[in-house]
Amino acid sequence: MSNEKKPPGFSTLAVHAGVEPDPSTGAIMTPVYMTSTYVQEGIGQHKGYEYSRSSNPTRDALEAAFAALEGGRHGLAFASGLAAIDAVLMTLKPGDEVIAGDDLYGGTRRLFTTHYEPFGIQFHFVDTQDPANVAAKLNDRTRLVWLETPTNPLLRVSDIAAIAGLLAGHPARLAVDNTFATPALQNPLKEGADIVMHSVTKYLGGHSDVVMGALMTKEAALDAELRTLQNNVGAIPGPMDCFLVLRGIKTLGIRVRQHCANGRAVAEWLEAHPKVDTVFWPGFSSFPNHAAAARQMQDFGGMISFTLVDDSLDASRAVCESTRVFALAESLGGVESLIEHPALMTHASVPAEQRAALGINDSLIRLSCGIEDAEDLIADLDQAIGA
Ligand SMILES: *Cc1c(COP(=O)(O)O)cnc(C)c1O
Repeated sequence: MSNEKKPPGFSTLAVHAGVEPDPSTGAIMTPVYMTSTYVQEGIGQHKGYEYSRSSNPTRDALEAAFAALEGGRHGLAFASGLAAIDAVLMTLKPGDEVIAGDDLYGGTRRLFTTHYEPFGIQFHFVDTQDPANVAAKLNDRTRLVWLETPTNPLLRVSDIAAIAGLLAGHPARLAVDNTFATPALQNPLKEGADIVMHSVTKYLGGHSDVVMGALMTKEAALDAELRTLQNNVGAIPGPMDCFLVLRGIKTLGIRVRQHCANGRAVAEWLEAHPKVDTVFWPGFSSFPNHAAAARQMQDFGGMISFTLVDDSLDASRAVCESTRVFALAESLGGVESLIEHPALMTHASVPAEQRAALGINDSLIRLSCGIEDAEDLIADLDQAIGA
């Protein structure tokens, strides 16, 4: 019999990771260290903290929690998801090449093409659902492969382990934006990725009250490089936001269970509705790459997109404007359910031809199922779609 200790389950980690009782008072909650500097007893004699851009105890606790949630060794907190992505891109030099998914979060693609392309970094946007498309662009200048799975808003799934396998022995790093899946459902580091990125703004924060980003890694040298960038650029979150996210992630396990249960109930109900045309949700066995999703994810999440049989802009706009429980808003991953119209809202900056090529048509509606009661979500959609 093995006497190895069983590692803690996800919800246990989410409640306890990174958090120790405060050594001076025993406070169970991590104190919010609202301080920019730290008094030194003599020059260079300090308790490990000199200036809060470099490190802050509240942020340290959160960064330790980030690492634990993804099964990594290192975590870094940034002022936003895009600031975290920017830190990864700053590790590149002119002449380097990046292979990225073609259905990325709009802000990610905008950062790549409007700021990094002019610096001489070449991007290849490919459909990463098929690893062969990544292999086709891989060459000796490739330094980064950037994946999102599932994607926004079409929930396309890419096989992380298969793409990591293509990069074995190659200097290119694999980074995965794991915002949609959350660490409760998918751990890219365990699938062979080098970097996991989160828009903490979404599920990790979970309460629509903080904008933040995170990077998780396993390699010390890569962590050191990114930590230097975090300090040199200074796109760090403040201690109060770190506290809110430490509080938010305590319930990540239980929240994601409810997001998934509601996502499943809503997706199945939509699929059977006569006025609904296509439902995009990776839990359907007929969904493209469902097998990869079922292997690399614990469950399929609360994000769903769908189109209507009446594919006019007016029909989908009317549904988005008639819900009462689902709030009409951008963003996702909070406890409250949201509805939005990608072509008019989150993806309006994507040129119409490109939207059409990707399959984001004018009838597409995206849902972020919150943690309310599934019957109330379904009743709300029923009145909005029926109207
Ligand atoms: C929101 C989001 C981002 C950007 O994160 P911010 O916190 O808004 O900067 C990146 N990727 C995905 C998948 C997102 O949903």
